[in-house]
Amino acid sequence: MHDDLITRCITAAAAAIHANKERLTALDQAIGDGDHGINMARGMAALEDKRADIAALPFSEACRQAGMTLVMSVGGASGPLFGSCLMGFGGAVDDFPASQDQTAAMLQGGVEAVKKRGKSDAGAKTLLDVLVPLLRLLEDAPDVSPAHVRESAARFARDTEGMVATKGRAAFLGARSVGHIDPGAQSAALIVGAVCDALEAGQ
Ligand code: ADP
Ligand code: MG
Repeated sequence: MHDDLITRCITAAAAAIHANKERLTALDQAIGDGDHGINMARGMAALEDKRADIAALPFSEACRQAGMTLVMSVGGASGPLFGSCLMGFGGAVDDFPASQDQTAAMLQGGVEAVKKRGKSDAGAKTLLDVLVPLLRLLEDAPDVSPAHVRESAARFARDTEGMVATKGRAAFLGARSVGHIDPGAQSAALIVGAVCDALEAGQ
């Protein structure tokens, strides 16, 4: 059962990144080096290539393999960061989460892995500014719907516009990074939204 869900999640996440590649690149042109769309699209293409093999694995191993694939295929900070997140998912749960508690536990594993890899935390204008508030939402609000998760993730990404970057290339801009959405946060929101779509379609 879970292999079908994994396949759909990879397909949906890749489609969302491919469709927004230019936008992600434009966001990174504003506060970074302009490669984020290319980096994420390359990682998603590698995941699509390995989709069948990954989907056939036990869930935690599938997460680890998907994460390794991103780490190996993507140049730039985002490959190791998004890859660590997936590997953290795999370390936190054995099976596809069957409850909101398990989803939160999985996300917690991903968040810890990204924090460690990036020597970072929420508030630095990165993908953690989507992942950490999302974790809080899952921990605090009962019975959160996929639609609410998708909308919240999109809002958390938009909220990075007002933040000062203190990690990654954007940190070189200091206060001049304000007024721009963080590209990694935008990618995280797109992927979360795509996974919500895939889960809704499977219900
Ligand atoms: P690079 O910065 O190497 O060009 P990308 O452009 O692909 O890589 O990714 C940039 C994104 O990575 C940023 O928008 C931010 O979300 C995330 N990022 C960069 N450095 C860190 C860090 N130390 N901790 C967490 N996230 C980071
Ligand atoms: Mg970049």
